Amino acid sequence: GDYEPEPLAMPAPATGKGFKSNSDNKDSAVLYHQLRQKPLNIVGGKGSYLITDDGLEILDATCGAAVSCLGHSDARVHEAIMEQLQKIPYVYSLYFTNSAAEGLSKILVDSTGGKMSRAFIVSSGTEAVEASVKMAMQYFRELPAPQPQRVNFISRKQSYHGNTLGSLAVGHHVARRAIYENILTKNVHHVSQCYPYREMKSGETIESYVARLAQELEDKFQSLGPDTVCAFVAETMAGATLGCVPPLPGYLKAMKEVCERHGALFILDEVMSGMGRTGTLHAWEQENVVPDLQTIAKGLGAGYAPIAGLLVNKHVVDTLTQGTGAFAHSQTYQGHPVSCAAAYKVQRIIQEDNLLPNVREMGEYLGRLLREKLGSNPHVGDIRGRGLFWAMEFVQDKETKEPYPPSKKIAWMLHTTGLKPEYAISLMPGNGGADGVNGDHICLAPPYNTTKAEIDMIVDRASKVITEVLG
Ligand code: PMP
Repeated sequence: GDYEPEPLAMPAPATGKGFKSNSDNKDSAVLYHQLRQKPLNIVGGKGSYLITDDGLEILDATCGAAVSCLGHSDARVHEAIMEQLQKIPYVYSLYFTNSAAEGLSKILVDSTGGKMSRAFIVSSGTEAVEASVKMAMQYFRELPAPQPQRVNFISRKQSYHGNTLGSLAVGHHVARRAIYENILTKNVHHVSQCYPYREMKSGETIESYVARLAQELEDKFQSLGPDTVCAFVAETMAGATLGCVPPLPGYLKAMKEVCERHGALFILDEVMSGMGRTGTLHAWEQENVVPDLQTIAKGLGAGYAPIAGLLVNKHVVDTLTQGTGAFAHSQTYQGHPVSCAAAYKVQRIIQEDNLLPNVREMGEYLGRLLREKLGSNPHVGDIRGRGLFWAMEFVQDKETKEPYPPSKKIAWMLHTTGLKPEYAISLMPGNGGADGVNGDHICLAPPYNTTKAEIDMIVDRASKVITEVLG
């Protein structure tokens, strides 16, 4: 009961002097990811800026974890949340439905052009992936001619699909899996990423590289027994772990064809790459494929409330409806009215403000500017991205592509250096596909309503940070 709220008035802007950098966290009761260091305290936000308790305005070039796609202070979303709070804050969706969940699910299903027929709304990307794995397994058990032998999943090396034991098992984040290997299911098998910078052979064309990756998937099906595979899971555009790698043309289509040939489901994880981040509402729209199950999160609620979803195609929904008639999975906060009302408003704003063309236009500009200003930097090995989702991969030597040793924590240094008051930019660090085999990278993911002036500032500040850290 003694909690003293933060005073609402903003402190005076930081002068640079007296600015607290990340400090000892002995005085904090929060369990942070970094246990020995207390992160900067954010007390406010304004458009693309985060404001610290020292009054420093940090240019948020990453929307947190590619989340805050409308910026940090859209009053229209605040109002929608207040309205829903006043109607009904919480409804248990095992007993009841609510208008906010109905409305949101309807616009999500409609946004797929009817390709998906229902939305299962949860609170985090991890939960959406977990639900997709469970739904895929239940589907094969409830087909009119059940296929309970389908117990294997195939995903990609160096992928990240979440942190609970099921979603962690589906991914291949080596560092986060390490402690838990013994209790992760052994029924997940991994194939290569589509990662031209390091894995396309010299002399290989896009077509032959894609054919090689499809053959690798085919071989994996054959070695497991094609009718034992439940689903293939991949991010439409590789995000956090590999660092903003768009799929090559024809790649996802070729992977889906392998799944179809063997009757396995094709699951696309669009937690990070979906809901507009790559320039279309669904990243798969640019790939000439439609998933059977699709996860969405981050840009769905733009951070105004925790929310994620699993979109499910008609065939899977019909199978479960005619089977046991229930998804064998339920969560207390599914379809949460306040989160749904926030996400509904966010999605309306993306439409009404016509933000997707801006994502494409500003995204192209960001890519061009990065190449222009940093393309010849001896430590920037690769610049890649799509929409407002770009990464730079850092190397010691551009010729050999030799990464920095993971112990140097280059990406993390770029992030912390960016937070110094003279730069005041938040960059998203990633280290070497999480297992040090690739170079460190930083991702950029500005809000969908960003401006040319902001993009100029992002590239200018990021360049200075890179010069300070890498010379
Ligand atoms: N899948 C992908 C592709 C992600 O990028 C993430 C988060 N970075 C997750 C799943 C997990 O989402 P969350 O952190 O919301 O649980």
